[in-house]
Amino acid sequence: MPRRFDIPEQHCPACGAVHSAVAPTEGNAMPQPGDITMCVRCGFLMSFGRGLVLRRLSLRKLQEAMESPDVVLALKAHASVVGDPEKPN
Ligand SMILES: [Zn+2]
Repeated sequence: MPRRFDIPEQHCPACGAVHSAVAPTEGNAMPQPGDITMCVRCGFLMSFGRGLVLRRLSLRKLQEAMESPDVVLALKAHASVVGDPEKPN
């Protein structure tokens, strides 16, 4: 079972969901600044800054993230559970 790590309580910059913990998608390592994370509510991709503060990705970092099969898989898994925003209801 994946571990869960407490992070400072903060809001998703896209949807405002409150996040106070994260679960790694692989391994059981504590997240580090620069790691990519995703809002479980809206699927917004972010990274951790210093102190594990959630930050928006720069365009370059977003492009790099989208080249990762793990990130694409996570987005597809999110869309399969929450729904694809590109598809009408
Ligand atoms: Zn969100």
